[in-house]
Amino acid sequence: MTIESVDAGVRVSLLDKLEISAFKDSLRGELIQPGDARYDEARRLYNGMIDKRPGLIVRCVDAADVQAAVSFSRQHSLLLAVRGGGHNGAGLGSCDDGLVIDLSPMKGVHVDRAAGTVRVEGGCTWGDVDHATYPFGLAVPTGFLSTTGVGGLTLGGGLGYLTRRYGLTIDSLLSVDVVLADGRCITASADENEDLFWAVRGGGGNFGVVTSFLFQGRPVSTVYGGPMFWELEHAATVMRFWRDLILTGPEELNGWFGFHTVPPVAMFPAEHHLKKMAVITWCYTGDLAEAERVFAPIRQVAPAAMDFAGPIPLPALQSLFDGIYPPGLQWYWNADFFTDLSDEVIDLHLRHARQLPTAHSTTHLYPINGAAHRVGKNDTAWSYREANFAQVIVGVDPDPANNDRMIQWSKAYWAALHPYSAGGAYVNMIMEEGHDRVQAAYRDNYARLSRIKAKYDPDNLFRVNQNIRPATRARKGNP
Ligand SMILES: Cc1cc2nc3c(=O)[nH]c(=O)nc-3n(C[C@H](O)[C@H](O)[C@H](O)COP(=O)(O)OP(=O)(O)OC[C@H]3O[C@@H](n4cnc5c(N)ncnc54)[C@H](O)[C@@H]3O)c2cc1C
Repeated sequence: MTIESVDAGVRVSLLDKLEISAFKDSLRGELIQPGDARYDEARRLYNGMIDKRPGLIVRCVDAADVQAAVSFSRQHSLLLAVRGGGHNGAGLGSCDDGLVIDLSPMKGVHVDRAAGTVRVEGGCTWGDVDHATYPFGLAVPTGFLSTTGVGGLTLGGGLGYLTRRYGLTIDSLLSVDVVLADGRCITASADENEDLFWAVRGGGGNFGVVTSFLFQGRPVSTVYGGPMFWELEHAATVMRFWRDLILTGPEELNGWFGFHTVPPVAMFPAEHHLKKMAVITWCYTGDLAEAERVFAPIRQVAPAAMDFAGPIPLPALQSLFDGIYPPGLQWYWNADFFTDLSDEVIDLHLRHARQLPTAHSTTHLYPINGAAHRVGKNDTAWSYREANFAQVIVGVDPDPANNDRMIQWSKAYWAALHPYSAGGAYVNMIMEEGHDRVQAAYRDNYARLSRIKAKYDPDNLFRVNQNIRPATRARKGNP
């Protein structure tokens, strides 16, 4: 099969019904097609802006189902997408016309108490993992919401509350079981298929379907954290203070900076509802007895309008914003890495943040230093180890009628900041922005990724992602 024929893809509607029926019989999981009662629910993505209509959705229950689905796609030249949590901003967990491998029934989490490790099946969300690990006083470094999929977040890198203390999510990854494009299932770790293990730590879903992740658990349970809100008049002072603290403060302290509109819900005093404010959401994993002392200077920087920081179980902190961002909202993402946040950049942030176009739209800056910096930029596929901040600007709203307005705001904000950035962005926080942006995300790791892609997926079967092209293709004049 040539790459050209794969690129063209085959519509599922052209397939022989008997072949689909035999495929269905070979599965333990469900096969959902257009017209089935559950089709619309099964194809729905977290980002309501993306509306894709796959020809077949395979709800895999085990690695054998995944192998069957991969082989069926390959044999019939079907476009293939892989869905973990379905959260991806660009909607890369689904496709039009082709086949979607939906891992959501694969929900197993096993904590090995003796080894302190956590085995997680490919369809879990981070809420599933937190639920299983918290009773054992363990956590896996994850993101800032519990509904995000383990699959996409981990394979793209993984930024969260524990990044400064324990590194990216991939820095706690010990091994993966992967179904490859040829249907084989192999394990990749530091000792086995090392090239693949290097590539999946940041290279996304380009190399196969990960059916199972093995993580090193970290001893974290109750932390001192939560959001603090400041009026915008204090935002520049607070942002500068946060920048300096997060670059030099103890690694047990993390906190992401954001601009938000205060939601009109009971937990916030009515006088603050719908006000635009600067927010830092903290997570301190050090000795709880020390926490008030650590937070004393933070509380002195400027008077906080609202201060919710205090002792909180990590799973509660990680799901604090789930209700504000339910599935189905319209999302438009723009992102970049930053090494520095100069005062000039901070002023630009303030100028654009004052224009937050809708009540859900926001800007976040996530710290990346500490333990994340102790891994070299070529040690895993995730290249921006020297960056200090991941910036994401998102236009978000329930109403598609506001899309043009929020997309324009997000693009203009991003364009104003981009010249000050480190050049590339976190692949998990961009839309489909072209191959240059994918290359910029990996920099000098791209060539190696491309060679590994050629080894494990030479026909680019796994291409509904931030795509790394197989090296052989580059030799044909399509870099
Ligand atoms: C509200 C929200 C909050 C977020 N917060 C954070 C955060 O705090 N930190 C952070 O790092 N990121 C965060 N993200 C970004 C998130 O990491 C990406 O959206 C990621 O792609 C989500 O993974 P998923 O499995 O849910 O996505 P999906 O849409 O299911 O998949 C995304 C991509 O990953 C591939 N993929 C997924 N699972 C597998 C698998 N098992 N094997 C092979 N390929 C797979 C898919 O093929 C697709 O290309 C957030 C996203 C949202 C929407």
